[in-house]
Parts: sequence; C-alpha cells; structure tokens
Amino acid sequence: MKIYETKQAIREEIARLRKDGSRIGLVPTMGYLHDGHLKLVRLAKEHADHVVVTIFVNPLQFGRNEDLDSYPRDAERDFTLLRQEGVTAVFCPTPEEMYAYGSDTIVDVPRLSGILQGQQRPGHFRGVATVVTKLFNITQPDIAIFGEKDYQQLAVIRRMVTDLDMPIEIIAHPTVREADGLAMSSRNVRLTPEERAIAPIINQALDQAQALARETSDIERLTKCIYTILRKEPRLQIRTVDISDAETLGSITHLTKPAVILITAGLGSVMLLDQRVIAPGKDAV
Ligand code: AMP
Repeated sequence: MKIYETKQAIREEIARLRKDGSRIGLVPTMGYLHDGHLKLVRLAKEHADHVVVTIFVNPLQFGRNEDLDSYPRDAERDFTLLRQEGVTAVFCPTPEEMYAYGSDTIVDVPRLSGILQGQQRPGHFRGVATVVTKLFNITQPDIAIFGEKDYQQLAVIRRMVTDLDMPIEIIAHPTVREADGLAMSSRNVRLTPEERAIAPIINQALDQAQALARETSDIERLTKCIYTILRKEPRLQIRTVDISDAETLGSITHLTKPAVILITAGLGSVMLLDQRVIAPGKDAV
C-alpha cells in the first residue's frame, strides 16, 4: 500500500493504475478508522480493481465552535488497518496541500445544505461538497462509497454529482453499528463509559419509531414517540429530530412513501448522529 501526501503524487499513481483499464474506487474519510469505514472499503473492492482511501480532516466543514482540534487522529493505526484490507493507495494531504494560499472557490448545494442538520451547522455541507469535489478531481474515481449514517451528506453529494455532471457512480453503504446498536463513529472514542452506556438510546428510539410506523403514518406521532424515548436520558441534548422524504429530504406530514428519520444529539463533548429509513406500513392509518 502506498501513502501519498501531495496531489501530484497521488495523481501520478492513479494514472499508472489506470493504464491497464483498471477501475478506481474511492473511499473518502476523516481517519481514525473503525469497522464502518472498513466495510465501505470492502464494498469499494467489490466494485473496483483498486481502492484509494483518503484521510483528511477537512477544516472547511467544521464550524468555529466545533471539534476540529480535538477530532481523533491516528494515521499509523489507520495505515495498518487499510493495509490489512488490501487498499492500493492512501491520500492524506495536509490542509495547506489541499487548500493552497489564495484558494477561494466553493461548491454549494444550497437547498439541500440549508435544511435539517444544515441549519444547525451553517457552512458544513458547503465544506463537504467543496472537499469532495476536490477529492474527485484529484483522484478521478469510477465509483465512490459513502455511508448512509451521514444521510444528508449523501443526499448533497448525489445532487452535486448529478447537477455538475460528474462521471462518478455514488454507492451507499448502510449504517454499521456496534453490538448494542450504537452507530459507529470516530467520535465515539470521546464518550465517557457512562455516556457510552447511554448512547444506544438513539438507536432504540429509531427502532421504536420504525415499529410504530407499522400502525400509524402520522409523522407528528412518530416524532413524539422519538422525543419521549430520548427525553428519558436527561444528559442527552436533543438537537434535531426530523422525519423527511427519503429522496428529497423535504418535509412531510404523512408517511406515504419511504422517509428518513434523522437524529442529532449532544452527549458530553460528542455530537451523535443517526438515521433510519422507514417505509409506510401495511396497517398504517
Ligand atoms: P468520516 O470519517 O466520519 O467522515 O466518514 C467517512 C465515510 O464513512 C462517510 O461516507 C461516512 O458516512 C462513512 N461512515 C462513518 N461511520 C459510518 C458507519 N457507522 N456506518 C456506515 N458508514 C459510516
């Protein structure tokens, strides 16, 4: 596995790989890898001859009061894990390499970025869209894998790829969970043991809402059910609970087609994010 820190070096490597017609699969990450990331890598391998993983904690997508400085990092551990997965190349640039002095261009998907979790994190999805565009331009993959865990991010990227005619197939991987249901995340390492014990309540709330969707299509009732469960844990700071059209992320009052539940909640110093796609139940009224 080769490791590159400059755009030019990874470009040259990918040009070499492509010479025999090989397909390139890209898995963009912010590092501190867990089993969720590794499952994305395995999915990429099913669709491509060579997998390229990027590790870059993108300053552009962090707000002023967010955890850019304390975001967990361990490059050596990441390299070991990726080597075991048979990854061909890793691109891990510095912020200065990614954003040259005077850099000014941004990519914005304004409607999808401004709603739901975007209201809590102004500029976040613009930062994501910009860095993903740059990573696509640098690595020119045939396919790229993203996790459903960051459901709105996935929607923003799909929209951007369609709107800007990027010749890249976007493939989604379902959310990978710990045994107790907590969605895996690099940030989970910052939970105290007490917080870690509380955190699976988000998945439990999603389970309950999904079960209730078999009986009712009333979004208000489903939302209330989630709040009732989450409020049992006073240490959990509920930020957003939304149930939206799974495709457009537009607001809905009734479950008549697939919808996505998106939850954001603070726990200690960590922001937890989770999602679940639900479909209208046969018995729903
Ligand atoms: P991150 O390093 O958190 O930026 O994540 C890199 C990629 O891995 C993104 O496409 C995420 O959606 C995806 N990802 C992170 N955690 C999970 C998870 N628990 N299950 C599935 N995908 C995930």
